[in-house]
Parts: sequence; C-alpha cells; structure tokens
Amino acid sequence: MRKSATVAVVGGGVIGLAVAWQAAEAGWSVTLFDPAVGSGASWVAGGMLAPLSEGWPGEDDVLGFGAAALAHWPDFAARLAAVTGVDVFVARETLTIAQDGADAADLRTIADWVNGHGHELRLVDRAGVRALEPALARTVRAGLLAAEPAIDNRRLVTALRKAADEAGVTVRPERVRDLAELDHNRIVLAAGAASAQLWPELPVRPVKGEILRLRQRPGSQPPPTRVVRARVHGRPVYFVPRDDGVVVGATQYEAGFDTAVTLAGVRDLIADAEAVLPGIGEYELAEASAGSRPGTPDNLPLIGHLSDRVIAATGHGRNGMLTSALTADAVRAELGGQPLTEVAAADPHRFGASTPSGGIR
Ligand SMILES: Cc1cc2nc3c(=O)[nH]c(=O)nc-3n(C[C@H](O)[C@H](O)[C@H](O)COP(=O)(O)OP(=O)(O)OC[C@H]3O[C@@H](n4cnc5c(N)ncnc54)[C@H](O)[C@@H]3O)c2cc1C
Repeated sequence: MRKSATVAVVGGGVIGLAVAWQAAEAGWSVTLFDPAVGSGASWVAGGMLAPLSEGWPGEDDVLGFGAAALAHWPDFAARLAAVTGVDVFVARETLTIAQDGADAADLRTIADWVNGHGHELRLVDRAGVRALEPALARTVRAGLLAAEPAIDNRRLVTALRKAADEAGVTVRPERVRDLAELDHNRIVLAAGAASAQLWPELPVRPVKGEILRLRQRPGSQPPPTRVVRARVHGRPVYFVPRDDGVVVGATQYEAGFDTAVTLAGVRDLIADAEAVLPGIGEYELAEASAGSRPGTPDNLPLIGHLSDRVIAATGHGRNGMLTSALTADAVRAELGGQPLTEVAAADPHRFGASTPSGGIR
C-alpha cells in the first residue's frame, strides 16, 4: 500500500467507526464523514450478540454468517479494550424462554437444528430457568441457554470513536451528497439505512425499531444478569442488562425513515415486558427511542467492492452490533486486497447492485 493512500468512510455509526479505526490501524489515511457521528441506529440498539438463539431451520446462511461474526468478537473487544481501556460487555449469556407449549416446542426445534450445525445450545427446564433468573414470571415453562454475550451499544460507539481518534482518523462533520465528490483512493459506504441514497441500486431500506431504557429504582428487583428473550402474544421482547437497569426491545415494522416513538410501540413493549418480568413496573422509564435498521431482503449485510474505488459496508439490519467486528476485519482485508471468505454470503453483487447509477467508479 502506498503510504499516502486515502480512505473516505461515509457514515459514523458502529460500522463506519469500526471500519475507520481498523483502516487507520492498517496504515491508511482515513477521513470519516458524518454530520452526527453515532446518532443513528447504533445509539438506539439493544446490544445482543445472539445469532445462535435466533437460528431457525433453513436459515443456514444467516446462522453461518452470524456465528462467524460472533467468533470475531473476543479478539475485536480485546483490541478495543487495549486501546481504550473500555470493556463493552454487559452479559455473558442469553436465555430464551418459553411461556407456552408452542414456544417450548420451538425452543427444542432451534436447539436440535443449531446444535446439529456444531454449536452448543442447552435446553433448561422450568426449575432451571427460575434458578438462573429468579425474577422471571412463574408462567415460564422452559428455556434455552446460549453462550452469547451482549454489549452496551453506547459504550461501544464511544469507545470506537476514541479508538478511531487515537488511530489518527480525521472526522469531518459533513453529510456527503454524492460519492463522486470524494477524491480518496477508496470510499467505504457505511451510511446505514441511508446508504441507498448514495448508491441507489443497493437494496437497503429502513426498518423501524422502538426500544426502552429502564432504570432500576431503590427497592425494585435487580435486572436479569443475562440477556432474556421471549415471545408474548406472538411479539418478540428482550431484555439486555445495563449497569443501571435494563434495555427492553424492540418493535419492528416498515415505516420509512420515521423515528418518532409511538404510544402503541411503548404500550406493547411495557405490557410484554411485564408479562415476562413482573417486577419491571417499579423501574423508571428513562428513555424511549426509535431508530432505522438498515434492512436487506435476505437479512444479510452488503460487504465488499461495489466498484474499483467503492466498498459497501452496510445493510446490517437487526444485527449490526453483532456483525461490526467481522465487518471491520473484512473491510480492512478488502482494502488490503485480500477479501475474507467468511463474508462471501454478504457479497453486495448478489442482488445485481453492481452498476453504479452516478459517475462514481
Ligand atoms: C431498536 C433497535 C434495536 C437493535 N438491537 C440490536 C441488537 O441487539 N444487536 C444487534 O446486533 N443489532 C441491533 N440493532 C441493529 C443495529 O443497531 C444496526 O444494525 C447498526 O447500528 C447499523 O450500524 P450502521 O453504522 O450501519 O448504521 P447507523 O448507526 O444508523 O449509522 C449510520 C450513520 O451514517 C450517517 N449518514 C447517513 N447518511 C450520511 C451521508 N450522506 N453522509 C455522511 N454520513 C451519513 C448517519 O448520520 C449515521 O451516523 C438494533 C437496531 C434498532 C433500531
């Protein structure tokens, strides 16, 4: 690589920040463009790293990709901690619970299928679940335990920003209107849900999600120590521990770029949370927020060259926290001319998105 080789990273969420940091560490001269670094979905998210618990028969590519992404986390987190002193983890395990017979059957299906792919999920009976997380509702029938950790997304954004600064990344608080205006040797498109505004052929669309941040109050039950996932009235609900309480998420629906928090979204999240953790009503409602997940048609991201100069690092949907470590390593390898085979399923050309509509190459 030439010493003066330059990279422009467009977008400063977890993906853009992690890519910028890793590119700078690899010796590139990096400029990150974002009018509001860390303000997108990355600030809103829960922080689960749970590809195994989300496994479902037939979704082999998603499972394989997610498991590969999870495997990149220990080293990535250790490197980030070495540079910043920040430990981003808030939990070490994920417990998915069943409240009725249908849910319990689903947990067995997931365990059989995921374990058949060489992973380790453990079915837990009612007494086992209560021993693990005593605050859960007495209606819980069974559980599925996975060695899937969780991170504090805001701690991650802040640590990545610090790591990028220390690695020499220049941050320009500007919105990029046209990639053709950038004269850098390479451009990494990491604008999250807005990525298709800069490369219209990319099949990335906003998928709205609302989420609550609840603070523990004196006398209220302690939050779960693991990530807890459940389904209530067919709706998924999850709890991700924080130092001062718990994050409860999340709604998911198509609403364009709308990030208003609706009463219905908050009502459903609170009702579903209380059905799983009855003591949660004592907590303080510290924050309700919403963000736009960068969704793709097959729930896999878009990582790799779009043209000689432009590399996509987008479309991370509901797994951007999980995938950030792998994406950063993959883009670093791509910039070095040696693409990682682990991201083959995220080939951005799989939907025929290679033809640039503007003048950029
Ligand atoms: C409610 C909710 C819960 C979630 N929970 C989880 C979870 O538990 N686990 C998990 O793995 N993932 C989760 N996600 C998904 C995760 O948050 C996203 O996949 C991830 O944040 C995407 O990161 P990003 O950097 O691509 O996008 P973003 O964080 O949205 O960042 C994009 C950035 O690009 C900038 N930008 C946009 N356009 C331009 C432009 N033209 N020029 C310059 N900059 C631009 C924006 O200002 C923004 O800062 C959740 C998401 C939501 C909404």
